[in-house]
Order: sequence, then structure tokens, then C-alpha cells
Amino acid sequence: MAGAVVALFPNAKLGIGPPTEDGFYYDFLVDRPFTPEDLEAIDARMREDLARGLPFEFVELSLKDSKKRFADQQFKLEIIDEVPADEPITTYRHGEFEDLCRGPHVESTGAIPAFKLLSVAGAYWRGDERRPMLQRIYGTAFESQDALDDYLQRLEEAQRRDHRKLGTELGLFLFDPIAPASPFFLPKGATVYNLLVNYVRELYQRYGYQEVITPQVFSTELWKRSGHYDTYRENMFFIQIDDREYGIKPMNCPAAALIYASQLHSYRDLPLRYADFGRLHRYERSGVTHGLTRVRTFSQDDAHIFCTPEQIAEETKGFIGMLTEAYKLFHFEDLRIALSLRPEKRIGSDEIWDRAEAALESVLHDSQSTYQSKPGEGAFYGPKIDFFVPDALGREWQLGTIQLDFSLPERFDLEYVAEDGSRRRPVVLHRAMVGSIERFLGILIEHYAGAFPAWLAPVQAVVIPITDRHLEYASQVQSRLASRGLRVETDTRNERMNAKVRQAQLQKVPYMLIVGDREVEQEAVAVRLRSGEDRGALPLDQVEAMILGVVDARE
Ligand code: ZN
Repeated sequence: MAGAVVALFPNAKLGIGPPTEDGFYYDFLVDRPFTPEDLEAIDARMREDLARGLPFEFVELSLKDSKKRFADQQFKLEIIDEVPADEPITTYRHGEFEDLCRGPHVESTGAIPAFKLLSVAGAYWRGDERRPMLQRIYGTAFESQDALDDYLQRLEEAQRRDHRKLGTELGLFLFDPIAPASPFFLPKGATVYNLLVNYVRELYQRYGYQEVITPQVFSTELWKRSGHYDTYRENMFFIQIDDREYGIKPMNCPAAALIYASQLHSYRDLPLRYADFGRLHRYERSGVTHGLTRVRTFSQDDAHIFCTPEQIAEETKGFIGMLTEAYKLFHFEDLRIALSLRPEKRIGSDEIWDRAEAALESVLHDSQSTYQSKPGEGAFYGPKIDFFVPDALGREWQLGTIQLDFSLPERFDLEYVAEDGSRRRPVVLHRAMVGSIERFLGILIEHYAGAFPAWLAPVQAVVIPITDRHLEYASQVQSRLASRGLRVETDTRNERMNAKVRQAQLQKVPYMLIVGDREVEQEAVAVRLRSGEDRGALPLDQVEAMILGVVDARE
């Protein structure tokens, strides 16, 4: 692509062109932004080069030669200056085009069966707004035309399901520049949000967690003690009051440690599992925020387990059991698990690392899950397990994590009295199943294409009177279902029935209950599902029992 751009725009200055998860991009400094016609011309030129089957030749250059070769390419010169002295400067050449690259490449342009240029966007050189604005062309390539077509279809579906678009259409949330990257949940969005939190609370009840509520703003002293001030300050919001500096919490961990430290604990008290839905604030650069999936304020299904080293396996097992149950409910299957093991630089004795890693390995082994070990990838303060799931479109998301921490107990001098009367350090497990509720809601909207299961739908049923003379009965139906705890609306607009049905379908309401003369007479409702299925007229009693059954079972 870069070769084609340079052939068509000889003055173009080349930035960088890395692969991405789904394709590639390349940045160019050009006199004017690329137009759709330019993309067509670039595409055509690329197809010519592919047809010519030009071999990719690997070239190694001296510093001097490389500077000569790229003398009129300012960004390449900048890159060359950053190559460490002991590393070779290498390029790849095909036809007349040569570019800095470590490689490897396919053998020739003929070995690229299918590609497509997707879009153009402005991008600052090195992501720095003080540097020139370049034009970034995105594209993708596949091993066959079929695989490319398949990908493009999924891309289109992903755009259709984009949670930012559906969030507006379904009246779930909004954003306002007055609070950048901070969502406002509208009544329907707040309903779903609270249902998610309540569901997690139910699990906590069954799995032996206790919920705590902790402050939002802490003196900087705490953040110095926890280590956040040293390593995480750039991502925190600070305020100054009464000559004292305070930090708004980006994580709940130090608060949990303070609660633990407020009492002397015996080994008999452990494990203690403190859950905290506290609101967190993290500063994210405006360039990386995205809808609900990357925001500056959120809350997590966060909990901290304080336990003895001997209890690590049992606690991890309990957590995986709970997480598996939750993922199944949300229709996430094919869990992928990664176990990150000790890095070079770490705290804690080899003994505790040996014990902790063996515990995690045995739990994963016993759970019969397949997992991947990642030596060296653990945090300096402990090993961790991360949980990944693909959504309905096959895109993978990291949701859960369980992270052992040998450092926090040291920093906060946490202890318990062991059986022999000695004072020992507990281990802390930071764990979350779905992570940020905001992000999880964004993922769920796309996973379900906005059609939440009935238990989670902000509106579970819409009563649709055929004419005004059915309004009174419609209102009786609504009150009756609402009195059973269902979320029901009545569409009282002066519209034709079909228009009301279509509106309910667009709003992805699971049940449409149509009432006309016959239904009034027989104390019935005609049931339609959002899928279009028509269940016909059924006695109201029966419909009530059916909907309650589905909702209560979270089907
Ligand atoms: Zn934590």
C-alpha cells in the first residue's frame, strides 16, 4: 500500500505502517487528505503490483547508507536515529519501493490473495498533537477472498451492533463534553446497570462475600503508602483542600486493606472476602477513550480476599466456580485462560511464589480448563490468572482476573494470628469477574445486539392497545404485570398497531401484548415476540405466568 501511495503521490512522506489485530495501517504526510477516489486509485495500483508478483527483497544497510537512502523522508530519519547502535538497519524492497522494516515478509506481492482498504483518518505523528497531522489509511488482508468476505461481513455486523449507536437508539446512556469520557446512564441504562450489580450481589451472597462501602477521596498519604502515588499518579485525579492534597480513588485495594487492618484477625476469621462497588476515576487520554468500554469513571465487581497462603487454592477454585456460573448466564462460552507466572524482578520469597504458582496450577488442572502458562508475565507482587471470552461476533474480551498480591500486606503491615500464636502475613487476592460494569455493559450491548434477555431488558413488555377504546384495559394489564415486579409500558400513541409493534421491535422489547375487542372480552392478550413470532391470543393469567417464569429463571 505504501508503495502504491508513493507511486501516485511522489511527495508523500512516510510515517509508520504496523500490522494491527485485524489488518494494518500506514501513516502518510500529504498535501491534502485522501479522498475516496484516491483510495480507489491506490487500491487499483496495489492490484497491479500484486499481479506482477514482485519479490520482497531483504536489505541490510549501514547507518550512513540508510540516511542517504531516506534523505527526503523526515520521519524515517527520525526512526533511524532511534535504532540502537548494535542493531542492524534493515529494509525490504519490492519494485521501486523500499521501506525500513524488521520483517519478515511474504515472498512476493503475488503471495497476498485478498486485501481491502477500509478507511482514512487523521493521526498525529507519534500520537503527539504538537507534531504534524498525518493521513492514516486502514486496510486488511486475508489468506483468501472467502475469509476476507467473511471478515467484512462481521465488520458490518459489528458496526450495526456498535454500543455507542445502540446506546442512543435504545435510550440507555449519553455523553456530554462537560464530563469527558464519563457516561450519564438514562433511566433504562441505569435499570440494566443496577440489574447487573444486583445479580453479582446475589452471587456474593451465595459465595460468602461481604459488601463494604468506602470513601471516594483519600489523602495523598494513603496513595504514597499503597504505591499508587509513585507508579500510577499520571492516571489519577487530585484535589487540594485545606492545604492538603487528596487523590480520588482509581482502585479500591487500599481501602480494603485499611478495613482489614482496623482489627486484629485470627486464622479462624480467614478468608475474609470484601466486595466493593466503589466508584473509580482514572485519567485516560482523550485519544484512547471509547464509548463505555474505555471511560474515566466506572465501578467494578471488585473484591479483595484476605487469606492464608494455604487457602489460595480453595479461594481461587471458588472464584472460578462463581465466574463460570456468571459467564454461562451471559452466554459467554469457550473461556480462554492465561496463567502469568513469576517475573525476574519480584518481591516475596521463592517459597511463597512456589506455593502460590503450584496452587493456581493445580486449581486450573482440576477445573479441567485448558490454560496457557506465561512465564515471566506475572506482576512483581504476585502471579495472576486472566479470563478471556469471545462475544457473539467472535471478538475476544478479557473479563475476569484473579491476582495474588504479596506486596499490599507488607505495605499495610497486615497480619493474622496463626494457630501457633505467631503473627503472619495474609495474602491478598484482587479479583473481578466482569471488571468495569460500564465496560461489561458496552460488551453486552454488542454481544446481544441490544436485545437483552428478558430478565435484563429495561422494558420487558409493551402493552399495545389497538384503538383508544382499549386503553383502559391496556392500563389494567400494565398495572397487573407491574404489580408482579415486571417492567411494563403501554404504547398510548395515536398510531396504527403495526407502527407500535415495529417501534417495540426496534426497542428490542421481549414481549408485545396486543389488546383489542376480543382480548378485552376474554381477559386475554395477543402475544408477539421481538423475533417476530406470533403466539396468538392467550389468557392473561397464562401470559403472566409465562413471562414471570422466563424472567425468574433468567432464561
Ligand atoms: Zn485490588
